[in-house]
Amino acid sequence: APPVEKYEYQAEVSRLMDLIVNSLYSNKEVFLRELISNASDALDKLRFMSVTDPELLKDAVDFDIRIQTDKDNGIIKITDTGIGMTRQELVDCLGTIAQSGTAKFLKALKDSKDAGGDNNLIGQFGVGFYSAFLVADRVVVSTRSPKSDKQYVWEGEANASSYTIREETDPEKLLPRGTCLTLYLKRDDKGFAHPERIQRLVKNYSQFVSFPIYTWQEKGFTKEVWLNFLCPLNFYTSLFKFSGNCVLLSTFQVEVDEDPTEATKNEQDGKTEKKKKTKTVVEKYWDWELTNETQPLWLRNPKEVSTEEYNEFYKNTFNEYLEPLASSHFTTEGEVEFRSILYVPAVSPMGKDDLVNPKTKNIRLYVKRVFISDDFDGELFPRYLSFVKGVVDSNDLPLNVSREILQESRIVRIMRKRLVRKAFDMILGISMSENREDYEKFWDNFGKHLKLGCIEDRENHKRIAPLLRFFSSQSEAEMISLDEYVENMKPDQKDIYYIASDSVTSAKNTPFLEKILEKDLEVLFLVDPIDEVAIQNLKSYKEKNFVDISKEDLDLGDKNEEKEKEMKQEFGQTCDWIKKRLGDKVANVQISSRLSSSPCVLVSGKFGWSANMERLMKAQSV
Ligand code: ADP
Ligand code: MG
Repeated sequence: APPVEKYEYQAEVSRLMDLIVNSLYSNKEVFLRELISNASDALDKLRFMSVTDPELLKDAVDFDIRIQTDKDNGIIKITDTGIGMTRQELVDCLGTIAQSGTAKFLKALKDSKDAGGDNNLIGQFGVGFYSAFLVADRVVVSTRSPKSDKQYVWEGEANASSYTIREETDPEKLLPRGTCLTLYLKRDDKGFAHPERIQRLVKNYSQFVSFPIYTWQEKGFTKEVWLNFLCPLNFYTSLFKFSGNCVLLSTFQVEVDEDPTEATKNEQDGKTEKKKKTKTVVEKYWDWELTNETQPLWLRNPKEVSTEEYNEFYKNTFNEYLEPLASSHFTTEGEVEFRSILYVPAVSPMGKDDLVNPKTKNIRLYVKRVFISDDFDGELFPRYLSFVKGVVDSNDLPLNVSREILQESRIVRIMRKRLVRKAFDMILGISMSENREDYEKFWDNFGKHLKLGCIEDRENHKRIAPLLRFFSSQSEAEMISLDEYVENMKPDQKDIYYIASDSVTSAKNTPFLEKILEKDLEVLFLVDPIDEVAIQNLKSYKEKNFVDISKEDLDLGDKNEEKEKEMKQEFGQTCDWIKKRLGDKVANVQISSRLSSSPCVLVSGKFGWSANMERLMKAQSV
């Protein structure tokens, strides 16, 4: 027999396995979802690759996932007919952490530790393949890649620092292609091998996987039901109908009246009594049962899909553990035909400050139902909307679509426009929700993205601006929208006033505010570093200009020229004297009407940087 080779796990893997087992014990059942999602990914990969390489499908087997349980021995087998793994891939994928799901988990763990160690957070993440060890103490992965003519067996145990790989030699166990995972359950977890329990879990967690998932189920009617209800209705199931995968468990014999047509024949012969005949009735058998819904959700009529179904689909598809904040399901026809379901996640996975994560994999592109790639986010959405997740299924793109094709395609340009519009509608929907907290949550997580949009997407200013939120001199605890600001403007107020600062506290203590507050005008407090640039890019909202109250020439519409002349005469010389003393440190010293109790204030030139900006630039250059 070929040798069994032993490998050490990468150090992080051992550590990760410890962590998983110790922190996820209360949420063990996630293992099934993770393993099914891997099987589904493997099928997606094969289907996609076979578009350009039909040779891969030389073994004519269906694309499906089968789960078989042995409740007496506590064994679960999950078999897919996907892309499988070569020997090297087994080492790379199951012995090291380079993979998305697990990497995400480790990052979450680190972040939660940094933030004071909230271990509940971990439950929100999928941990991928290793979650098998939540319930199993031994895992065997037998797999065959169409790239290799050999099948390999990976074998690992919980709490071990190494695993083995050998070649499969048992002809009974050879697969046409794909992967068969066998979990030998821990003593306390054998309950998961109950066929009904597995079926329930599949229905709960994986109902929207786009490949059929079959579970191995016991079927048939009890003898009692047969005898009391079915046989009197002349309903028999003959033994001989069963073939293929089914396994017979039990049968019994019944005596039935002979076929009436034959009875008539007998009558002609002059014999009148009815003849009895024995039949074999199948009582119990095992068979594969389709357990999930295979029609993609986006093909269904939006009117007939419930919020729960959308949320479940989201969690399944994106391996998320939290419900989304909002979803939008739409179809466009005419010039370009595509269907899509978009979502706004509840939290920003990479942290609120990570605006530009180049590898988001948030948009899954399908062409005529075939999964193409989740690598084309950048082609379908502008970067500042990269937090939007969703599926997009086009009928107009070629199956072998590449990034180059996408970038040049007129169809994609139209799709992109529509997707962006729908994404904004969806966000606007959250902002109008009765539940103010929803939008607060959204803003907290993705507000920065929209502000980036002010800078990067002039074309959509009209859509972004109503979604912005700021603190203000009249609303220091709760953020307000620009619409709220405009509604609250004084009848003769022409501009929208703002001041940029590093916090609400320092904003409200600046001397620039004095006069304005006296007049009961509202001032927006821009306290996020990106705010000021965003506002400067917007320039105006509803034809009202944004005006920085820290710049010179602030016009509050109350110029009293008489008084100004008087003041200039009285204090002109004082100003000259101060300017002489300060020299180059200031550009100008002048009389101002903007203060009421402070004696003087430093302002920025109209075309210069604001003090806040200067502070930021300084901070950047260190
Ligand atoms: P992720 O799915 O996020 O990449 P996992 O830990 O779940 O991380 O899986 C690790 C890798 O192992 C996958 O990326 C894939 O390459 C490989 N893998 C796991 N299960 C299968 C499978 N059933 N068929 C083929 N490859 C698989
Ligand atoms: Mg996975």
